[in-house]
Amino acid sequence: MAKLQCVRGTYDLYGAAKRKTKQVVRTGEEVVEKYGFEEIETPIFEFTEVFARNLGDTSDIVTKEMYCFEDRGGESLTLRPEGTAGVVRAFVSNGMQQNLPVKFYYHGQMFRYERPQKGRQRQFTQFGVELLGADTPQADIEVIAMAYEFLEKLGLSGQVTVEVNSLGDAESRNAYREKLVAYLKEHFDELSADSKNRLERNPLRVLDSKEECDKAVVEKAPLYADSLNEKSKAFFAKVLDGLDRLGIKYRVNNRLVRGLDYYSHTVFELVTDKLGAQGTVLAGGRYDGLVEQMGGGKVAGIGWACGVERLSMLLEADVSLPRPVAVIPVTEDVNLQAVEIAYRLRKAGFSVDQSYGGNMKKRMIKANKANAFAAVIVGPDELANGEVTVKNLDSGEQKTVALNNIEKEIN
Ligand code: ATP
Ligand code: MG
Repeated sequence: MAKLQCVRGTYDLYGAAKRKTKQVVRTGEEVVEKYGFEEIETPIFEFTEVFARNLGDTSDIVTKEMYCFEDRGGESLTLRPEGTAGVVRAFVSNGMQQNLPVKFYYHGQMFRYERPQKGRQRQFTQFGVELLGADTPQADIEVIAMAYEFLEKLGLSGQVTVEVNSLGDAESRNAYREKLVAYLKEHFDELSADSKNRLERNPLRVLDSKEECDKAVVEKAPLYADSLNEKSKAFFAKVLDGLDRLGIKYRVNNRLVRGLDYYSHTVFELVTDKLGAQGTVLAGGRYDGLVEQMGGGKVAGIGWACGVERLSMLLEADVSLPRPVAVIPVTEDVNLQAVEIAYRLRKAGFSVDQSYGGNMKKRMIKANKANAFAAVIVGPDELANGEVTVKNLDSGEQKTVALNNIEKEIN
């Protein structure tokens, strides 16, 4: 039998850590729903093609990180490594082009066969948004603003930097590619084996390499900004102007390219220096060619995704839960009456803590551990008079109150 533990790079999430990831997702939902985004849930696995064709066949994800398997019917399937390809697949397969723009958010597990490290897991959660059918800079501005507001709501805006860059349109991209290839060829011997291979098939990817030898070469590579055509420059200028107007601080990072093939124009990352090499907590960009590539016609797109666990690691304080009321039966023969009272209080909106055994003293200790603010002590004699004792656990003060006045008293 296999050892009774999680697979490498996967984790059980519970207690404070789970409360934090939940807080991240809830905050995300709250913020993006204000912008009119609706939730979509796509399957956790898709035909391998959906990812292999669309993320780019030289991307890290496709070349070495996907969990692919053959099902019993002989189909090649893949556990989703990211969210965009699946959402765009859903957009196309459900014919959603009729009513643009379409605004979706999602969250869920993603799977990548990576070397596990702090903030880098094999199963992790992303929360992300996709805005389809909007090709103007306003969309880029709002999508970035939404990401910023999200981190602000989490109390993290002081710890992250917004980095933006423009990859321009196809013409700019081709112009840049030529310059880059010429430069990289001059430095061919200094490149990693992976990058030598990328140079032929997808030279832009070299800019995204994490290998030290590649980084040294990339440092002196031609700047993307110098290859942008007028149209692309104007587009990017509007995006930056918009961010300025909203008071969102950013840094233009000329070296920022995203690891996937489908990006154009604006790309951005929210980066922290608190998580070592895993500093990117949220990343996204415009992907105007992706829908068409999937056979869905010319529909522009832009979106981002954040690593929920990575982000939650930045939350320092535990997430506070509502303080409960403890309902404590004094003797066993009033246990069921205590259950009745607890049920009633919960229906009235209180969070109620019940321990299911032990004497009164033990139950009091448990109530304090659960951070209860009040205890309803149910004793047989008082109950016979239609009363219980309500104790304020912060002040120690206690009172006898009529059964139907409990809610009022603890309020
Ligand atoms: P990295 O450069 O860290 O590998 P990436 O470019 O592969 O990131 P994306 O595909 O853009 O990441 O995913 C968006 C976000 O999802 C990342 O910024 C990160 O917060 C999170 N993420 C990506 N891979 C992992 C992972 N293996 N474990 C935990 N979080 C991850
Ligand atoms: Mg990666």
